[in-house]
Amino acid sequence: MGNKKICIIGSGLAGLATALRLAKRGYKVEIIEKNPYPGGRLNQLNVDDFTFDIGPSFFSMTYEFDEFAKDCNIELPFRYSSLNPIFSVNFQEDKITYNIYNDLYKLNEQFRKIEPNFISKMDRYLRYGSSLFEDTIDIAVRQNFDSLKHYVKSLSKINKKHIPLLFTSYQNHVNRYFSSPELRQILSLSAYFLGNTPHKTNGVYTLLSHTEFVNNGYHYVHGGMYKIIEGLIIELKKENVNIIYNSEIVNVQRSNKTVIAVIDKKGKRYEADQFVINVDPLIFRNKILHKRKYMEKIIERKHWSMGMLTIYVGIDIKLRNLAVHNYYIGKESNYHEMNNFKHYNLPNTPYYYVNIQSRYNPDAAPEGCDALMFVVPVPNLIYKKDWSDKDDIVSNIIKDFSNRIGMNIKSHIKTLKVFTPVEWQKKFNLFCGAALGLSHSMDQTGYLRPSNMDKEFKNLFYTGCSTVPGIGLPMAIISSRLTTERVIGEKITPIYE
Ligand SMILES: Cc1cc2nc3c(=O)[nH]c(=O)nc-3n(C[C@H](O)[C@H](O)[C@H](O)COP(=O)(O)OP(=O)(O)OC[C@H]3O[C@@H](n4cnc5c(N)ncnc54)[C@H](O)[C@@H]3O)c2cc1C
Repeated sequence: MGNKKICIIGSGLAGLATALRLAKRGYKVEIIEKNPYPGGRLNQLNVDDFTFDIGPSFFSMTYEFDEFAKDCNIELPFRYSSLNPIFSVNFQEDKITYNIYNDLYKLNEQFRKIEPNFISKMDRYLRYGSSLFEDTIDIAVRQNFDSLKHYVKSLSKINKKHIPLLFTSYQNHVNRYFSSPELRQILSLSAYFLGNTPHKTNGVYTLLSHTEFVNNGYHYVHGGMYKIIEGLIIELKKENVNIIYNSEIVNVQRSNKTVIAVIDKKGKRYEADQFVINVDPLIFRNKILHKRKYMEKIIERKHWSMGMLTIYVGIDIKLRNLAVHNYYIGKESNYHEMNNFKHYNLPNTPYYYVNIQSRYNPDAAPEGCDALMFVVPVPNLIYKKDWSDKDDIVSNIIKDFSNRIGMNIKSHIKTLKVFTPVEWQKKFNLFCGAALGLSHSMDQTGYLRPSNMDKEFKNLFYTGCSTVPGIGLPMAIISSRLTTERVIGEKITPIYE
């Protein structure tokens, strides 16, 4: 590879991880970022005396990060610990809170009354989830596909017993094992991480229950999630990777089938031999390559994830009785009505989660105070453009939360900041404010998801959550490996121990 120059557009987790993998392989890497700070959606916000992680608040599949560290021959530059309980779930109707552990006996104590034979049902559900995970992860998630034929051939190697799952939803698969409405909802929550409701997410993704309960739970990062980005920046500096901030790429200079340079809003050109795009591939083709096939009206027809309304709240008390990660579920009727986040009765919000960030990052809040992040799945900007009602929505959620925890937090609020899908779109160029990019419908999975290699330009590659394999921090790390393979033109054998 000699001294080949790579230019990476975007400093999200996938962009930074690709940068380090390539720098370690001898490439001269430069990163261009539109914002004045790195990290993309994995970012932080400082308001008054509080610091908030603005997006991801936990992660799973820690072994993908360990693989990354091995590939780069570094110590992982941040520390993590598992969440225990993994999370808690509170139901509005019966006011009960369940603490979810990965210990079947602890779960049984809570569920045996509402779900007869809980242990054997859960055991059967998880056993199947584990076999699904083991049978599919290497074949369907951890490899690049060169053609549709390659994809189909790879999938044909998967145990045929999983085929019926392709014709059912996440929710229906869970419903087959459990009869209580509570467990049916609790075990389907992970579908939201893929950008859609459990009714609209395919049954194959119930393999997430395996990552959640069997291998290896959810983890927080010591000192806050942004330590992941700070750690990566230190490693990139050691490799002399240059990061240029406040530079939004708006155009490319091309010659035949090659990109020569990318050009930012101020007209500054960046030349390189190869380019890796950490911007959503469809947005890049629409806004930067200006391709007719990717006009807004056309890409709008893709399945985009829901938006997220995020609320960052600093309070002058500590909520010691809550778990770190807490789900609040509304009326069951709302849960079923909430179809694809298109029609959504916001004041009766059916679902939100609250993360107590100062629990794992004591610096997030002053002494005696807590830093909370609320995440509310909401319609993206295709379905709800006007967010002038955001104050009413936020006030309803704070009221609902106060009722559920039995304490009015309103008078304790020192700081409150809200991002609607409009802010998410503006900050990180997210199409229609879809917080998680392209969702994981089956026609947007594997080879059918936008490829990490551009079809027209031979020196243009993509990395991140709207290309393969998909959404979430571990997927961003796998994406960085799959993209690196494309750039260097050879397969990397990942080492998992
Ligand atoms: C509210 C929220 C909660 C989440 N919670 C979790 C969680 O708990 N666990 C989990 O695993 N995942 C979570 N996710 C998902 C996770 O954040 C994403 O999957 C992941 O961070 C995406 O990383 P990325 O590198 O693909 O993209 P991004 O982080 O979006 O990075 C892309 C970068 O490109 C930059 N950029 C865009 N356009 C240009 C341009 N034209 N020129 C230059 N730069 C440009 C952007 O500013 C950005 O820095 C959450 C996401 C959200 C929004």
